[in-house]
Amino acid sequence: MTVWDDLVGQDRVRGQLAAAAKDADALVTAVSDGKPLEQGSKMTHAWLFTGPPGSGRSTAARAFAAALQCTSPDRALGGEPGCGFCDGCHTSLIGTHTDVQVIRTDLLSIGVKETRDLVRRAQLSPAVGRWQVIVMEDADRLTEGAGNVLLKAVEEPAPRTVWMLCAPSLEDVLPTIRSRCRHLTLGTPPVEAVADVLIRRDGVDPERAHSAARATQGHIGRARRLATDERARARRAAVLKVPLRIADVGGCLKAAQELIDTATEDAKQMAEEVDVKETEDLKAALGGVAGGRMPRGTAGAMKELEDKQKRRKTRTQRDSLDLALTELTGFYRDVLALQLGSRIAIANVDVQDSLDRIAESSTPAQTLRRIEAVIACRQAMDRNVAPLLAVEAMTMSLRAG
Ligand SMILES: [Zn+2]
Repeated sequence: MTVWDDLVGQDRVRGQLAAAAKDADALVTAVSDGKPLEQGSKMTHAWLFTGPPGSGRSTAARAFAAALQCTSPDRALGGEPGCGFCDGCHTSLIGTHTDVQVIRTDLLSIGVKETRDLVRRAQLSPAVGRWQVIVMEDADRLTEGAGNVLLKAVEEPAPRTVWMLCAPSLEDVLPTIRSRCRHLTLGTPPVEAVADVLIRRDGVDPERAHSAARATQGHIGRARRLATDERARARRAAVLKVPLRIADVGGCLKAAQELIDTATEDAKQMAEEVDVKETEDLKAALGGVAGGRMPRGTAGAMKELEDKQKRRKTRTQRDSLDLALTELTGFYRDVLALQLGSRIAIANVDVQDSLDRIAESSTPAQTLRRIEAVIACRQAMDRNVAPLLAVEAMTMSLRAG
């Protein structure tokens, strides 16, 4: 086992990171031997990981962080850092290393205030580890103001600080920031590699692993959820029935309402899991008594938390709808492949009957228009059109074909 084990189907990136970790390791060792740090420094202090959702951007960043913190004695014998076993590797991977901070946001944007706090932290020397590492999973969500705050830190990094930013594509990151980062691109991992990791690491049986990997087209997180979560399978099955249920206007409106209800239910469930505890924790921290009145002057902090929870609910609902739209697009892509007699692998083999029915009863031109209708729905939601309206417009267009 090594720190790179979860990075699936990304051999090139893995090689680059392993080499960089080795250089970084030699650098820290040289410094502790009394040589000045900047001499012959090959370390890049700002990295940018891009790749499609599910390709493993944050997994790559985390693995790299672990390799940077590796303290395995084998390194001195010429071994690569990133053993996966030592305390540095292990705590980095499970998220408890003091000098590895992973920023994951539930919100639609990362603001100036949070970024200032991070930048302040980034000025510190590592407390126990070899580097101070900050992984920002959603660098595409930095507001422009926050980006400018971050820019200063990336331009003049502290000598032992490493920033790792993750985003879907280069275009999602402010040009000033991306130009100062070393850029690594991850590709969509092959279906076989995803199935393999589900079997090996998650103990999923091979048939289910292959089916989940194929259905999600190389998105590891979604494949894992589909393979291990009964509820996720039921939801996907419901979404893939939509194309058969929109024969009349009533069916269209009902299908739209159900897609919205499912997303709302997801957001509600997430809120129940997280919000209650979060609120109790804050109350306790502010000196409140369970069920009692809060001390004076704490209303602002409570209000801030409520706002944050409300924004998170919106995002969860959007993410859930987005997943449904992705699944619908995949369905019609399969239909198109069948209609055109394309040899590319069908993703949704488990609903082959429905695919055949729709493929036979429509033309490729209609299928293309349907795919466009799903894309238009996503764009409408990006413009903050009310979700139910956007989804109703979509189901009506799917019916018209
Ligand atoms: Zn190690």
